[in-house]
Amino acid sequence: MSSTTHRGIGMTSQRTRERLIQRLRDEGIQNQNVLEVMRNTPRHIFVDEALASRAYEDTALPIGQGQTISQPFIVARMTELLMDAGPMETVLEVGTGSGYQTAILSKLVKRVYSVERIKSLQLLARKRFQELHLRNIRLHHRDGGMGLPEYAPFDGILVTAAPEGIPRSLVDQLRVGGCMILPIGNRSEQVLVRVTKTRNGYEKELLEQVIFVPLLGGTL
Ligand code: SAH
Repeated sequence: MSSTTHRGIGMTSQRTRERLIQRLRDEGIQNQNVLEVMRNTPRHIFVDEALASRAYEDTALPIGQGQTISQPFIVARMTELLMDAGPMETVLEVGTGSGYQTAILSKLVKRVYSVERIKSLQLLARKRFQELHLRNIRLHHRDGGMGLPEYAPFDGILVTAAPEGIPRSLVDQLRVGGCMILPIGNRSEQVLVRVTKTRNGYEKELLEQVIFVPLLGGTL
């Protein structure tokens, strides 16, 4: 076990982790596979050591570069919504960030492609995946608003930063019957949306209000 895994968290973490899973259940998360994967994935690995003691609170935390690791509830909710569409082989995530959502997805689908525009965050995420022996994740450093056309179509797409509207290029990269979960809106008001690709276009359902960092253009 490496030093990062230890961090003196030990048994306390097991109990606080259990409490988090119970809270997710109480808040309405029902998918047992999602709950199980979240129980078994150490979130403290995905934040800075100084914040590790808060890793099992149901809250977003800063990860540097003005970005945040998503709140566990929203990770669970988006993953559950994506899984509702049926078994998935390939999923594209836009916004790797800490890599926590990526790690959760990697245990539920065959292969995850994840795109991040900030190189330093991508490098940290890559180290964490190595530490956790997650080998079915492919990372790309680029502006993810354009998706990854060379690997399309995807069974599912999950976007963890908010564009103002539904990016056409991402819809184009879904297979027919595939599903995309994303927040849309401006900095002060966003809504979670489920997009289902159909033969003639797509259907969209507006779900609950959410808060994400904005989807930005270009790379850093
Ligand atoms: N899933 C991540 C969420 C991180 S916050 C986690 O739980 O840790 C959203 C991330 O999206 C940030 O890291 C941000 O840099 C990234 N992002 C924003 N716009 C992007 C774009 N156009 N392409 C790729 N990544 C983007």
